[in-house]
Amino acid sequence: MSFTLPEDVDERPVTVIGAGTLGRRIALMFADRGGEVRVYDPSPGAADAARAWVGEHLPEVAASVPGGAPGKVVASEDLAAALAGSWLVVEAVPEKLELKKQVFGDLDRLADPDAILASNSSSYPTRQFTDRVRAPERVVNMHFYMPPEQPAVDLMSSGSTDRAVLDLLLRVLPEYGIFPFEARRESTGFIFNRVWAAIKREALSVVAEGVATPQDVDRMWQINMHTPAGPFRMMDQVGLDVVLDIEEHYAAERPGLPTGPRDLLRTYVDAGHLGVKTGRGFYDDYGTGS
Ligand code: NAD
Repeated sequence: MSFTLPEDVDERPVTVIGAGTLGRRIALMFADRGGEVRVYDPSPGAADAARAWVGEHLPEVAASVPGGAPGKVVASEDLAAALAGSWLVVEAVPEKLELKKQVFGDLDRLADPDAILASNSSSYPTRQFTDRVRAPERVVNMHFYMPPEQPAVDLMSSGSTDRAVLDLLLRVLPEYGIFPFEARRESTGFIFNRVWAAIKREALSVVAEGVATPQDVDRMWQINMHTPAGPFRMMDQVGLDVVLDIEEHYAAERPGLPTGPRDLLRTYVDAGHLGVKTGRGFYDDYGTGS
């Protein structure tokens, strides 16, 4: 199967696979220039819920983008219909390798032959799930953070990605208010997540060694960096179990990382204090959790 770069990208839809936390946010960004975005999710009602969420936030986001206009969002539980005609497909299904392999095999089979197939995976390079893909040159990592509040995106080659795919995305994404940066070699954590991981790790070390409290670290961070929340408050928001999983993943790949940060996180996780979602983490002012 030979791949040619998609044309008429302004006229064709974008399809998002998975309507969860990130899928709906990705759909929101691609809907802000008046075009059509389709959201596919096999879980009953999930795509519809995402469409409603996008509808709520779209006017404000479209107004913030030069040339922006609220687009059309279509919810779908039929994969083939959701893919027909799209120039870009962004996968945002749960972080399970076998599921990603299966989804990319399906996308390669059902999407238009010139569609770019992107993955929002946080921890897997696309190289690991192209074994059922006939045209791996159209597959790319496109890793979002938390749009619309954090609209930077990492782009990374699968190792086989056509250079023209990366160049097209680097050129087109800013039109949607998305800011792409290319990881120039394979990197677990891409670009910004690695930098943020180092900050979290050292903040945890400072507390694990008894040098300062989480609250003091956060206050200093806020005062010096002029941001509304410090690293501990932000870790509570993400979930301390998720923060621990991420750090374990880095540690498995990079022997020699200090164990103190993971040990400290584990004491909270073992006690069931996971942050905002359980009502208590480094802070205990979250009510009963949500
Ligand atoms: P989520 O659990 O909130 O949503 C996943 C959605 O995928 C669910 O709605 C589920 O029904 C759906 N789904 C399951 N199987 C599917 C299939 N075969 N086809 C289509 N949809 C399917 O997950 P999330 O937090 O949105 O994460 C999705 C991806 O985004 C993961 O790869 C994750 O690493 C990445 N990511 C997450 C974050 C984050 O902060 N949550 C940030 C960046 C990247």
